[in-house]
Amino acid sequence: MSRADIPTTADLTEAAHEAASRCGVDLAACAGDNPHRSPVNGESLGGIAWSDAADVDAAIERSREAFLQWRTVPAPVRGAVVKRFGELLSEHKADLGTLVSLEVGKITSEAQGEVQEMIDICDLAVGMSRQLYGTTSVSERPGHRLMETWHPLGVVGVISAFNFPVAVWSWNTAVALVCGNTVVWKPSEQAPLCAWAAASLLAQALAEAGAPAAVSQVLVGGPSIGEAVVEHPGVALLSATGSTRMGQQVGPRVASRFGRSLLELGGNNAAIVAPSADLDLALRGIVFAAVGTAGQRCTSMRRAIVHSSLVDELTGKLAEAYERLPIGNPLEDGTLVGPLVGEAGFTAMQDALQAAVDQGGTVVTGGERVLQDAADGAYYVKPAIVRMPSQTEIVATETFAPILYVLTYDTFTEAIALNNDVPQGLSSSVFTQDQAEGEIFTSAEGSDCGIANVNIGTSGAEVGGAFGGEKQTGGGRECGSDAWRGYMRRATNTINYSGELPLAQGVDFSPA
Ligand code: NAD
Repeated sequence: MSRADIPTTADLTEAAHEAASRCGVDLAACAGDNPHRSPVNGESLGGIAWSDAADVDAAIERSREAFLQWRTVPAPVRGAVVKRFGELLSEHKADLGTLVSLEVGKITSEAQGEVQEMIDICDLAVGMSRQLYGTTSVSERPGHRLMETWHPLGVVGVISAFNFPVAVWSWNTAVALVCGNTVVWKPSEQAPLCAWAAASLLAQALAEAGAPAAVSQVLVGGPSIGEAVVEHPGVALLSATGSTRMGQQVGPRVASRFGRSLLELGGNNAAIVAPSADLDLALRGIVFAAVGTAGQRCTSMRRAIVHSSLVDELTGKLAEAYERLPIGNPLEDGTLVGPLVGEAGFTAMQDALQAAVDQGGTVVTGGERVLQDAADGAYYVKPAIVRMPSQTEIVATETFAPILYVLTYDTFTEAIALNNDVPQGLSSSVFTQDQAEGEIFTSAEGSDCGIANVNIGTSGAEVGGAFGGEKQTGGGRECGSDAWRGYMRRATNTINYSGELPLAQGVDFSPA
């Protein structure tokens, strides 16, 4: 690939503006002085307007007012709005996918997959809108009944990361809305057009239903706008997705005002490859998880913990597979590895590779910048594989770039200990044909992560399961299962139909 294969800035800008316009974005209102760069060629797509602190206050006030109305709309009717939003996403799947590719560098298939995930969560949330159930229980008192009811929280603040610039917002928003909340979104400053486009489609669905526009709002800006949302007492739940560093700042601030937070932070995900593994399956699973989205997924595989009997063979096959990876323009058919999001990611990758070597590692392949002549400001890299003698400090650190550390084990107990011996706890997997190993891995003695897979890699989760992780990943859960409960408050109700007033625990409080 050469410079001629990378789209020009004029082409990228035109494609971005056309896609955003078709989604209903008012481009004139989005223009401003803040930087907006495409990782595809590293050049500016034109300045962008950012919100300020006053906008944050005003948006949260409007959101609170809209909530008072939205919470009275029956949940299945709220679900119908989310259903319509899902239809609009389907109609504009290509447009939104193009914007994701242009703004964060995802290859077309993964960018469209991200939009499909938005459509999927809408479908799931529509079903949830008829299933927001509580339990009933028996009372110790005659003529009494206990039950619990679930109610919306109010304004939900969503802060999202660059690597899933629209899907993560939709996971939160589709569920938060059917639960009766309103949403204020601070997207990644890397992807403002994606955010405005996705939010415009939801605005259209809300308008068609006659719902208040302020049910969903967007505040584009950098971390300081995020901080204003975090600290605002009007935000009942703050759902923040990003680095552990960001979560360490955000979590205590929300807690100090007794707000609720849902944190989805960094991962350091591993696959164990056991002696009985189907090696071809493992190979394909590892390559997709380690290299997909150029190693910039929270669930990207960063460690392969391989049995000593097959570590040489598997590492050799992985290195061969890496040689064949098509790296380049993410918008072109056939490309599997697009650019890193920017220079900081490239620098972090180089620093991590140097640290790995300093800590006893050997780079098997990759790490170097490629296609430098294609675009000066764009960072295309060859994904790296590094053999490590042990799980050193750098291996236990999340570097948001395509580096796969290969570690060796002899006993399955040792492999599980290596899997768990990192500060993060998002995703994990084991490749094995030994049923007992699969069972142990998914048991209480096995992986300590929020996601523990068998014979599938660490990335590419479906919306039907609860998504999130433990330890420094933050403990939050989004998407399926009972994750909706995180967006609601529980009330316990005791109903007395006895006509008497017996007290619990046999307490006697009768006047003399
Ligand atoms: P980041 O932490 O730099 O930024 C994430 C978001 O937080 C951005 O919108 C940013 O503006 C905002 N922000 C940053 N500092 C803030 C502060 N002090 N207060 C309020 N807002 C603040 O992360 P990134 O580089 O965009 O994304 C990569 C990171 O996100 C990786 O660590 C990855 O593992 C993580 N991630 C986690 C999940 C998950 O579900 N666990 C999903 C996607 C990404």
